Amino acid sequence: MAEYDYDLFVIGAGSGGVRAARLASELGAKVGVAEEYRIGGTCVIRGCVPKKLLAYGSRYAGEIDDARGFGWTCEGLRFDWPTLIHNVRREVDRLNGAYTRTLEKAGVDRFLTRASLDDPHTIKLAGRDGKVSAKTILVATGSHPFIPDVPGRELFITSNECFELEELPKSIAIVGAGYIGMEFASIFAGLGVTVTVLHRGDQILRDFDDDLRDGLASAMRNRGVGLRMNAEAASIEKEGNGFRVNLKQGDCVTADLVMAATGRLPSTMNFGLQQMGVELGWNGHVVVDEYSKSSVDSIYAVGDVTDRMQLTPVAIHEATAFAETLFNDTPTPVDYSFTPTAVFSEPEIGTVGCTEQKAREMCRSVDIYKSSFKPLRATVSGRDETMLMKLVIDGETDKVLGCHVLGADAVEIVQMAAIALRLGATKAQFDATRALHPSAAEELVTMRQRWEPPAAVAGSDAAA
Ligand code: FAD
Repeated sequence: MAEYDYDLFVIGAGSGGVRAARLASELGAKVGVAEEYRIGGTCVIRGCVPKKLLAYGSRYAGEIDDARGFGWTCEGLRFDWPTLIHNVRREVDRLNGAYTRTLEKAGVDRFLTRASLDDPHTIKLAGRDGKVSAKTILVATGSHPFIPDVPGRELFITSNECFELEELPKSIAIVGAGYIGMEFASIFAGLGVTVTVLHRGDQILRDFDDDLRDGLASAMRNRGVGLRMNAEAASIEKEGNGFRVNLKQGDCVTADLVMAATGRLPSTMNFGLQQMGVELGWNGHVVVDEYSKSSVDSIYAVGDVTDRMQLTPVAIHEATAFAETLFNDTPTPVDYSFTPTAVFSEPEIGTVGCTEQKAREMCRSVDIYKSSFKPLRATVSGRDETMLMKLVIDGETDKVLGCHVLGADAVEIVQMAAIALRLGATKAQFDATRALHPSAAEELVTMRQRWEPPAAVAGSDAAA
């Protein structure tokens, strides 16, 4: 008789948990997984996928305006939120079914309930008699929205509730200007909602390249999105049918809805991790080594709960490396180098590698190449639009350290550029690559003029 019920028990069936459970099972392990909400996790149910579908939906207003320049008559078109959100939910249901079948086909036992730890090898399943035991436990419980601790915080909605709105508000105040805040600001604005973003810092998208931050902020302002920097919420209260956000600066903003987009915290509370002696980091994340092992030998963790990089492909990579290490005799440390990332704002951002600021901290010499231009399509559509491409080069080795794009299809362009950067491509190799003409991406291989900061004015200038 086996010592444990399972070789591996996974808590959380999101991006990381599903991948680890499936691979381990296919590699011969006996695997169980518990999920307290819906199989698929944040990405599929209330994150990347439904968000991007809403972003697609929100872009049609601009596309329709563009079409007029190309000779189309577009009168009489109107938008219906219930149709969009219904169709998005239908796709989410389909994906939820597909993920469930994946686990089923791989022979993984599924428990649709909340799990907690009883000892380092025992899992309690809420609402069921008894417990199950496992040689190894993988914590893949993800993260949840952080809501600022201000009076009236219960009045905030978060990204979770955006997917449950039965009707669109006329106006929304979004607190926070990280990527989720900027994406929902673009979605709501595209659908005709009056949007005000409140951010306590002095520019949107902390940690992104400054040219992208400045470029997106000015493009969004151009589209009528209110961006108020150095504005921190002090309290929220009801006012009429809507809400009032009182700012620490003394001013206030009113809107039909108020959304907190102020970051996400690892979900590590109230299921026994602390009692097991699992070390947690400064914001409650599970501290793990390069093989995703926690401070307790039998407990591993992958994905958002470890707060390494809160992205779906990263959770999947960590889960794959974990399964290879434990169940395929192939110790695989996780590798985060050149992980591309996106902001599905309007216009969108794709970015990979070092920002200019970071490169200047790391390298003795940095060369910058950048180009901002009106895309070909905008010359006829008449859209007021500027695309930005930027390469950050190590001046000593000529290696391309960073590639940053703002504008249509930025994410598609940067996914491909990420391959070149990962392979260690140099600027000379970018230059030796034939352009694909006419395209926006050809700028990345045709920029010859090194950018020099204006002598008198230090700092970034997207329009240089
Ligand atoms: P999750 O996918 O969150 O899965 C964790 C699962 O664990 C959940 O289903 C939860 O219900 C379950 N769970 C938690 N506790 C328990 C328990 N005690 N018992 C049982 N089950 C439990 N990433 C990108 O790469 N690109 C994007 O465009 C992108 N957009 C995003 C947009 C939004 C609005 C949000 C919120 C996130 C977005 N992300 C995006 C991030 C991405 O969704 C996460 O990085 C990814 O889902 C993390 O996967 P995970 O497996 O760690 O956790």
